[in-house]
Amino acid sequence: MEPLLEIKDLRLVFSTERGILDLFQGLSLSLMSREVLGIVGESGSGKSTLAYTIIKLLPGNARILSGKVLLEGRDILSMKEEELRRIRGKEITMVFQDPSTSLNPVFRIKDQMLTVVKENLGLQGEVARKRALELLKQVELPDPESIMNSFPFELSGGMQQRVMIAMALAANPKLIVADEPTSSVDATIQTQILSLLKKLKAERDFSLILITHSIAVAKEVSDRIAVMYAGEIVELGKVETVIEKHLHPYTEALLKSIPRPRGKSEMKRMLPVVPGQVPDLISPPSGCRFHPRCPYAMDICKAERPPYFNKDGSLVMCWLYSEER
Ligand code: SF4
Repeated sequence: MEPLLEIKDLRLVFSTERGILDLFQGLSLSLMSREVLGIVGESGSGKSTLAYTIIKLLPGNARILSGKVLLEGRDILSMKEEELRRIRGKEITMVFQDPSTSLNPVFRIKDQMLTVVKENLGLQGEVARKRALELLKQVELPDPESIMNSFPFELSGGMQQRVMIAMALAANPKLIVADEPTSSVDATIQTQILSLLKKLKAERDFSLILITHSIAVAKEVSDRIAVMYAGEIVELGKVETVIEKHLHPYTEALLKSIPRPRGKSEMKRMLPVVPGQVPDLISPPSGCRFHPRCPYAMDICKAERPPYFNKDGSLVMCWLYSEER
Protein backbone atom coordinates (compact mmCIF):
# COMPACT_ATOMS: atom_id res chain seq x y z
CA MET A 1 0.00 0.00 0.00
CA GLU A 2 1.25 3.49 -0.92
CA PRO A 3 1.81 5.91 1.98
CA LEU A 4 -0.57 8.85 2.32
CA LEU A 5 2.34 11.16 3.09
CA GLU A 6 6.02 10.72 2.34
CA ILE A 7 8.74 13.11 3.41
CA LYS A 8 11.84 12.33 1.38
CA ASP A 9 15.35 13.45 2.18
CA LEU A 10 14.32 16.89 3.47
CA ARG A 11 17.08 19.43 3.99
CA LEU A 12 16.01 22.69 5.60
CA VAL A 13 18.01 25.59 7.03
CA PHE A 14 17.14 28.94 8.61
CA SER A 15 19.08 32.15 7.96
CA THR A 16 19.56 33.96 11.26
CA GLU A 17 21.56 36.98 12.40
CA ARG A 18 24.06 34.62 14.00
CA GLY A 19 24.46 32.43 10.93
CA ILE A 20 22.83 29.44 9.21
CA LEU A 21 20.81 27.16 11.45
CA ASP A 22 21.02 23.68 9.96
CA LEU A 23 17.83 21.91 11.10
CA PHE A 24 16.96 18.96 8.86
CA GLN A 25 19.89 17.18 7.24
CA GLY A 26 17.99 14.75 5.02
CA LEU A 27 14.93 13.78 7.03
CA SER A 28 12.66 11.02 5.70
CA LEU A 29 9.36 9.80 7.13
CA SER A 30 6.15 8.27 5.88
CA LEU A 31 2.58 8.00 7.11
CA MET A 32 0.01 5.46 6.01
CA SER A 33 -3.67 6.13 5.51
CA ARG A 34 -5.62 6.10 8.85
CA GLU A 35 -2.37 5.91 10.80
CA VAL A 36 -1.60 8.03 13.87
CA LEU A 37 2.03 9.04 14.08
CA GLY A 38 3.23 10.71 17.26
CA ILE A 39 6.25 12.98 16.78
CA VAL A 40 7.93 13.49 20.14
CA GLY A 41 10.79 15.67 21.28
CA GLU A 42 11.76 18.60 23.47
CA SER A 43 11.10 22.13 22.43
CA GLY A 44 13.67 23.12 19.80
CA SER A 45 13.82 19.61 18.30
CA GLY A 46 12.22 20.80 15.04
CA LYS A 47 8.95 18.91 15.37
CA SER A 48 6.71 21.96 14.90
CA THR A 49 8.84 23.13 11.95
CA LEU A 50 8.28 19.71 10.42
CA ALA A 51 4.51 20.19 10.85
CA TYR A 52 4.66 23.58 9.11
CA THR A 53 6.86 22.15 6.33
CA ILE A 54 4.17 19.56 5.60
CA ILE A 55 1.73 22.36 4.75
CA LYS A 56 4.48 24.60 3.32
CA LEU A 57 3.79 27.36 5.79
CA LEU A 58 7.29 28.35 6.80
CA PRO A 59 8.75 31.68 7.93
CA GLY A 60 10.60 33.82 5.35
CA ASN A 61 14.03 32.91 6.71
CA ALA A 62 13.48 29.17 6.15
CA ARG A 63 15.08 27.65 3.07
CA ILE A 64 14.35 24.18 1.74
CA LEU A 65 17.60 23.00 0.17
CA SER A 66 16.27 19.68 -1.10
CA GLY A 67 13.67 17.02 -0.56
CA LYS A 68 10.02 16.32 -1.20
CA VAL A 69 6.80 16.17 0.80
CA LEU A 70 4.51 13.89 -1.18
CA LEU A 71 0.79 13.78 -0.44
CA GLU A 72 -0.53 10.78 -2.38
CA GLY A 73 2.41 11.27 -4.74
CA ARG A 74 1.95 15.06 -5.27
CA ASP A 75 4.87 17.16 -4.08
CA ILE A 76 3.55 19.85 -1.72
CA LEU A 77 6.89 21.69 -1.72
CA SER A 78 6.71 22.37 -5.45
CA MET A 79 3.05 23.49 -5.45
CA LYS A 80 1.98 27.05 -6.29
CA GLU A 81 0.08 29.09 -3.68
CA GLU A 82 -3.31 28.51 -5.32
CA GLU A 83 -2.91 24.72 -5.23
CA LEU A 84 -1.62 24.91 -1.67
CA ARG A 85 -4.71 26.85 -0.58
CA ARG A 86 -6.87 24.03 -1.96
CA ILE A 87 -4.88 21.43 -0.05
CA ARG A 88 -4.76 23.32 3.26
CA GLY A 89 -8.11 23.11 4.97
CA LYS A 90 -9.46 20.50 2.59
CA GLU A 91 -6.95 17.67 2.42
CA ILE A 92 -4.68 18.64 5.31
CA THR A 93 -5.88 20.60 8.34
CA MET A 94 -4.06 21.76 11.45
CA VAL A 95 -5.00 21.97 15.10
CA PHE A 96 -2.74 24.44 16.88
CA GLN A 97 -1.39 24.51 20.40
CA ASP A 98 -3.32 27.46 21.78
CA PRO A 99 -6.93 27.65 20.57
CA SER A 100 -7.38 31.10 22.10
CA THR A 101 -4.96 32.53 19.54
CA SER A 102 -6.40 30.51 16.63
CA LEU A 103 -10.02 31.53 17.19
CA ASN A 104 -10.92 35.11 16.30
CA PRO A 105 -11.97 36.77 19.58
CA VAL A 106 -14.38 39.24 17.96
CA PHE A 107 -16.56 36.72 16.11
CA ARG A 108 -19.01 34.25 17.59
CA ILE A 109 -18.21 30.54 17.12
CA LYS A 110 -21.19 30.40 14.72
CA ASP A 111 -19.54 32.85 12.30
CA GLN A 112 -16.21 31.04 12.41
CA MET A 113 -17.74 27.57 12.00
CA LEU A 114 -19.98 28.70 9.15
CA THR A 115 -17.04 30.30 7.32
CA VAL A 116 -15.10 27.03 7.49
CA VAL A 117 -18.12 24.94 6.43
CA LYS A 118 -18.92 27.31 3.53
CA GLU A 119 -15.34 27.55 2.31
CA ASN A 120 -14.59 23.85 2.52
CA LEU A 121 -17.91 22.22 1.73
CA GLY A 122 -19.61 24.95 -0.28
CA LEU A 123 -22.70 24.74 1.96
CA GLN A 124 -24.99 27.71 2.60
CA GLY A 125 -27.80 28.78 4.93
CA GLU A 126 -29.61 26.18 7.03
CA VAL A 127 -27.65 23.25 5.52
CA ALA A 128 -24.36 24.88 6.59
CA ARG A 129 -25.74 25.60 10.08
CA LYS A 130 -26.85 21.99 10.51
CA ARG A 131 -23.44 20.71 9.39
CA ALA A 132 -21.70 23.05 11.86
CA LEU A 133 -23.95 21.78 14.67
CA GLU A 134 -23.23 18.16 13.70
CA LEU A 135 -19.50 18.84 13.84
CA LEU A 136 -19.80 20.37 17.32
CA LYS A 137 -21.75 17.29 18.44
CA GLN A 138 -19.09 14.99 17.02
CA VAL A 139 -16.48 16.60 19.24
CA GLU A 140 -18.81 16.01 22.20
CA LEU A 141 -19.53 19.62 23.04
CA PRO A 142 -22.62 19.90 25.21
CA ASP A 143 -25.40 22.17 23.92
CA PRO A 144 -23.94 22.98 20.47
CA GLU A 145 -26.65 25.64 19.87
CA SER A 146 -25.39 27.73 22.77
CA ILE A 147 -21.74 27.09 21.79
CA MET A 148 -22.56 28.46 18.32
CA ASN A 149 -23.80 31.69 19.88
CA SER A 150 -20.81 32.08 22.18
CA PHE A 151 -17.71 34.19 21.76
CA PRO A 152 -14.42 32.27 22.20
CA PHE A 153 -13.70 33.97 25.57
CA GLU A 154 -16.94 32.53 26.94
CA LEU A 155 -15.62 28.97 26.44
CA SER A 156 -13.04 27.09 28.52
CA GLY A 157 -9.67 26.17 26.94
CA GLY A 158 -10.83 22.56 26.52
CA MET A 159 -14.05 23.68 24.78
CA GLN A 160 -12.11 26.01 22.48
CA GLN A 161 -9.80 23.14 21.54
CA ARG A 162 -12.85 20.96 20.73
CA VAL A 163 -14.15 23.75 18.47
CA MET A 164 -10.76 23.82 16.71
CA ILE A 165 -10.93 20.04 16.23
CA ALA A 166 -14.49 20.39 14.84
CA MET A 167 -13.19 22.98 12.35
CA ALA A 168 -10.30 20.70 11.40
CA LEU A 169 -12.78 17.89 10.68
CA ALA A 170 -15.11 20.10 8.62
CA ALA A 171 -13.84 19.15 5.19
CA ASN A 172 -13.22 15.47 5.94
CA PRO A 173 -9.45 15.94 5.55
CA LYS A 174 -7.15 13.07 4.70
CA LEU A 175 -4.63 14.29 7.25
CA ILE A 176 -4.87 16.30 10.47
CA VAL A 177 -1.66 17.71 11.91
CA ALA A 178 -2.13 18.52 15.60
CA ASP A 179 0.66 20.65 17.07
CA GLU A 180 0.73 20.20 20.88
CA PRO A 181 -3.10 20.13 21.04
CA THR A 182 -3.19 19.39 24.76
CA SER A 183 -0.36 21.51 26.10
CA SER A 184 -2.52 24.52 27.03
CA VAL A 185 -5.10 22.53 29.04
CA ASP A 186 -4.94 20.84 32.44
CA ALA A 187 -4.39 17.10 32.92
CA THR A 188 -8.10 16.16 33.13
CA ILE A 189 -9.00 18.05 29.95
CA GLN A 190 -5.88 16.65 28.28
CA THR A 191 -7.16 13.10 28.93
CA GLN A 192 -10.58 14.04 27.53
CA ILE A 193 -9.10 15.57 24.35
CA LEU A 194 -6.89 12.52 23.82
CA SER A 195 -9.91 10.20 24.24
CA LEU A 196 -11.81 12.34 21.76
CA LEU A 197 -8.98 12.08 19.22
CA LYS A 198 -8.93 8.29 19.72
CA LYS A 199 -12.70 8.09 19.23
CA LEU A 200 -12.64 10.27 16.10
CA LYS A 201 -9.78 8.27 14.66
CA ALA A 202 -11.80 5.06 15.13
CA GLU A 203 -14.93 6.58 13.56
CA ARG A 204 -13.52 8.62 10.70
CA ASP A 205 -11.20 8.11 7.83
CA PHE A 206 -8.23 10.38 8.50
CA SER A 207 -4.58 10.10 9.41
CA LEU A 208 -3.18 12.09 12.29
CA ILE A 209 0.25 13.49 13.03
CA LEU A 210 0.39 14.36 16.70
CA ILE A 211 3.24 16.68 17.62
CA THR A 212 3.98 16.63 21.33
CA HIS A 213 6.81 17.14 23.81
CA SER A 214 5.30 14.35 25.94
CA ILE A 215 5.98 10.72 25.07
CA ALA A 216 3.17 9.84 27.53
CA VAL A 217 0.69 11.84 25.40
CA ALA A 218 1.96 10.24 22.18
CA LYS A 219 1.58 6.79 23.73
CA GLU A 220 -2.15 7.38 24.34
CA VAL A 221 -3.17 7.74 20.68
CA SER A 222 -0.33 6.81 18.34
CA ASP A 223 0.18 3.72 16.21
CA ARG A 224 3.84 4.63 15.70
CA ILE A 225 6.16 7.08 17.41
CA ALA A 226 8.97 9.10 15.84
CA VAL A 227 11.38 10.50 18.43
CA MET A 228 13.02 13.74 17.26
CA TYR A 229 16.19 15.27 18.57
CA ALA A 230 17.87 18.37 17.16
CA GLY A 231 16.24 18.02 13.74
CA GLU A 232 16.81 14.26 13.41
CA ILE A 233 14.39 11.38 13.84
CA VAL A 234 16.51 9.27 16.14
CA GLU A 235 14.05 6.42 16.72
CA LEU A 236 10.97 5.32 14.80
CA GLY A 237 8.82 2.32 15.58
CA LYS A 238 5.49 0.94 16.70
CA VAL A 239 4.24 2.58 19.86
CA GLU A 240 4.52 -0.52 22.05
CA THR A 241 8.07 -1.23 20.81
CA VAL A 242 9.25 2.34 21.40
CA ILE A 243 7.69 2.45 24.87
CA GLU A 244 8.58 -1.06 26.05
CA LYS A 245 11.79 -1.81 24.14
CA HIS A 246 13.19 1.66 23.47
CA LEU A 247 16.54 1.72 21.75
CA HIS A 248 17.89 5.26 21.59
CA PRO A 249 19.44 6.83 24.71
CA TYR A 250 17.34 9.98 24.09
CA THR A 251 14.12 7.92 24.07
CA GLU A 252 15.30 6.38 27.34
CA ALA A 253 15.78 9.86 28.81
CA LEU A 254 12.32 11.00 27.61
CA LEU A 255 10.71 7.93 29.17
CA LYS A 256 12.49 8.61 32.46
CA SER A 257 11.08 12.13 32.46
CA ILE A 258 7.43 10.93 32.40
CA PRO A 259 5.65 11.96 35.61
CA ARG A 260 5.06 8.98 37.88
CA PRO A 261 2.75 8.59 40.88
CA ARG A 262 4.37 9.23 44.21
CA GLY A 263 2.38 8.37 47.29
CA LYS A 264 -1.34 7.81 46.96
CA SER A 265 -2.54 10.62 44.76
CA GLU A 266 0.40 12.94 44.28
CA MET A 267 1.96 13.13 40.81
CA LYS A 268 5.56 14.30 40.69
CA ARG A 269 8.25 14.16 38.09
CA MET A 270 11.03 11.74 38.97
CA LEU A 271 13.28 13.67 36.62
CA PRO A 272 12.01 17.12 35.68
CA VAL A 273 13.67 17.24 32.28
CA VAL A 274 16.16 15.35 30.18
CA PRO A 275 19.52 16.39 31.68
CA GLY A 276 21.54 18.87 29.58
CA GLN A 277 20.53 21.33 26.87
CA VAL A 278 19.22 21.00 23.33
CA PRO A 279 22.22 22.00 21.13
CA ASP A 280 22.53 25.27 19.27
CA LEU A 281 22.08 24.19 15.65
CA ILE A 282 24.04 27.15 14.31
CA SER A 283 27.08 25.22 15.47
CA PRO A 284 25.72 21.73 16.07
CA PRO A 285 27.78 19.06 17.82
CA SER A 286 29.89 16.93 15.47
CA GLY A 287 28.88 13.33 14.79
CA CYS A 288 25.79 12.32 16.75
CA ARG A 289 23.97 15.50 17.80
CA PHE A 290 23.04 13.87 21.11
CA HIS A 291 26.61 13.00 22.12
CA PRO A 292 27.15 15.88 24.62
CA ARG A 293 24.15 14.64 26.65
CA CYS A 294 24.53 10.91 26.09
CA PRO A 295 25.71 8.71 28.97
CA TYR A 296 26.79 6.02 26.48
CA ALA A 297 28.80 8.25 24.10
CA MET A 298 31.85 6.62 22.50
CA ASP A 299 34.68 8.05 20.39
CA ILE A 300 32.90 7.29 17.11
CA CYS A 301 29.83 9.24 18.31
CA LYS A 302 31.79 12.50 18.31
CA ALA A 303 33.41 11.78 14.94
CA GLU A 304 30.65 10.39 12.71
CA ARG A 305 26.93 10.93 12.31
CA PRO A 306 25.30 7.53 12.90
CA PRO A 307 23.27 5.95 10.10
CA TYR A 308 19.96 4.19 10.76
CA PHE A 309 20.08 0.66 12.10
CA ASN A 310 17.14 -1.75 11.98
CA LYS A 311 16.42 -3.40 15.30
CA ASP A 312 13.30 -5.22 16.51
CA GLY A 313 11.30 -3.65 13.68
CA SER A 314 12.33 -0.10 14.71
CA LEU A 315 14.78 2.27 13.08
CA VAL A 316 17.37 3.81 15.36
CA MET A 317 20.08 6.37 14.65
CA CYS A 318 22.71 5.34 17.16
CA TRP A 319 26.14 3.72 17.00
CA LEU A 320 25.24 1.36 19.87
CA TYR A 321 23.43 -0.80 17.28
CA SER A 322 26.27 -1.10 14.78
CA GLU A 323 27.44 -4.69 14.45
CA GLU A 324 30.93 -3.47 13.59
CA ARG A 325 31.35 -1.68 16.87
FE1 SF4 B 1 24.77 8.15 22.38
FE2 SF4 B 1 26.55 7.54 20.53
FE3 SF4 B 1 24.12 6.62 20.31
FE4 SF4 B 1 24.61 9.18 19.93
S1 SF4 B 1 25.36 7.49 18.68
S2 SF4 B 1 22.97 8.33 21.10
S3 SF4 B 1 26.19 9.54 21.45
S4 SF4 B 1 25.60 6.15 21.93
